[in-house]
Amino acid sequence: MPLAQLAEKTALKTDFSLLIDGESIATPENGRDFLDVINPATGAVFARCPAAGKAELDRAVAAARRAFPAWSEHSFEDRTKAIRRMAEVLKANADTLAELLTREQGKPVQQSKDEINRAATLTEGMLNIRFETQTIVDDAQARIELRYVPLGVAGIITPWNAPINLAIGPLVSALYTGNTVVLKPSPYTPLSTLKIGELIRDVFPRGVVNFIAGGDSLGQWMTEHPGIDKISFTGSVATGKKVMASSASTLKRVTLELGGNDAAIVLDDVDPKVVAPKLFFAGFVNSGQVCMAIKRIYAHEKIYDALCEALAEEARKWKVGDGLDPATKLGPIQNRMQYDKVVDVIADTKKAGGKFLAGAEQPPVSDKVVGYFVNPSIVTGLDESSRLVREEQFGPIVPVLKFTDVNDAIRRANDTRYGLSGSVWSKDPERAAAIAAKLEVGTAWVNQHRATAANVPFGGAKESGIGRTYSDIGLKAYMEPRVISILKQPM
Ligand code: NAD
Repeated sequence: MPLAQLAEKTALKTDFSLLIDGESIATPENGRDFLDVINPATGAVFARCPAAGKAELDRAVAAARRAFPAWSEHSFEDRTKAIRRMAEVLKANADTLAELLTREQGKPVQQSKDEINRAATLTEGMLNIRFETQTIVDDAQARIELRYVPLGVAGIITPWNAPINLAIGPLVSALYTGNTVVLKPSPYTPLSTLKIGELIRDVFPRGVVNFIAGGDSLGQWMTEHPGIDKISFTGSVATGKKVMASSASTLKRVTLELGGNDAAIVLDDVDPKVVAPKLFFAGFVNSGQVCMAIKRIYAHEKIYDALCEALAEEARKWKVGDGLDPATKLGPIQNRMQYDKVVDVIADTKKAGGKFLAGAEQPPVSDKVVGYFVNPSIVTGLDESSRLVREEQFGPIVPVLKFTDVNDAIRRANDTRYGLSGSVWSKDPERAAAIAAKLEVGTAWVNQHRATAANVPFGGAKESGIGRTYSDIGLKAYMEPRVISILKQPM
């Protein structure tokens, strides 16, 4: 029996709870609100979990506020010990969590494991960052110190494409800097986050960490809640704008990690066969559902045809299927809404004269059948006005565009409201670096794409976000600078 059907036959999983004030809550206060979770490889509901309403949110915020004074008084060393234990719990449970993540998100199990181990590694990296009191002035008359103090309660809202990594990054940033947390995963992928909540329930003092699943309105209530001091939001640009507007009513601090339309510029001196697998990986892993995936490729005319062919050859090698099947390299699109959007973009691309070198044909999705699968597609023959080039497709379909003059490629790469990241590829890294520096983005890579680290700030320019994640810059966004100014003259 195919794995997809096997998965459908498994009994509905219901052993999930919210984590509020150190307690596991299996049934919401009103007794009736639950989220049905779909396995995108089968299109069938395979699990459900409790959904938090306003009552649960109020309880979680109150618990986090109560826990804040003691947690913020702990030293960095003490907080480090607890967070390190959480990273160990993640690693020890990587296999079980990975299978659950694959069932709800769709990505191949090995990539789910990679996501979990990466979350643990980034956690370790952040714990090496230190914030010392800075002395700005120290003379006979005065001493002026600058310290960083935690903000209070951080509300963390996450998307469905990398639910564990995108929860753990802000969670560790908030906790390590002395804040307490109320975290809400996407309604499409709440389960692995809630499971982590159960696993770490006793790692932190009561109320320090609260995990509540719920729909979009729960996210909005968090942004409006007077008991939350900071919002860390990862998601789309459209929702990010709503989050910012709504957070303004209480002047919450915000970190917004939003969408992208990353360009890769490939110069005339590369070997297409060497570069193509790297570009393909960066554009298509997780079926293109990555904020910093390559979403447009600008290739010099000299290597254009050979590069397109090498990319198409790569596309044909990547097996699409159920992420539980070890042979699968690309899972389904995570949800029906996104699947419909990608199918729409494919139709629009065909209408605009796009030529598909690989991919394109989609199996039908009906109520009875099947998961949300899309074959990896390499498209040529488009200009800048097409939807596929202008919008964030967030799916396994990437346009390859030709350029002659590199200044023209830079102009076209920058001609967008997005500004997350980008890359330049060449045999000569210094030549590429000079071009990379002209990209209007938060991160410009040379001969790589999607490389992040705990000590390197990551985030978007333009409409791709506000603030940065990771590094001392990212962590300081969970703290307030406080100046202590002492006149040494006795009174
Ligand atoms: P989304 O904006 O639809 O939802 C993200 C989260 O916001 C979900 O938890 C959702 O329930 C919640 N939400 C929805 N409406 C809300 C509101 N009005 N107020 C508060 N919260 C609300 O995004 P998505 O479709 O889940 O994720 C895909 C998007 O995320 C893509 O655009 C992708 O590029 C982006 N993303 C960015 C990064 C980054 O680091 N820059 C990382 C991953 C994903």
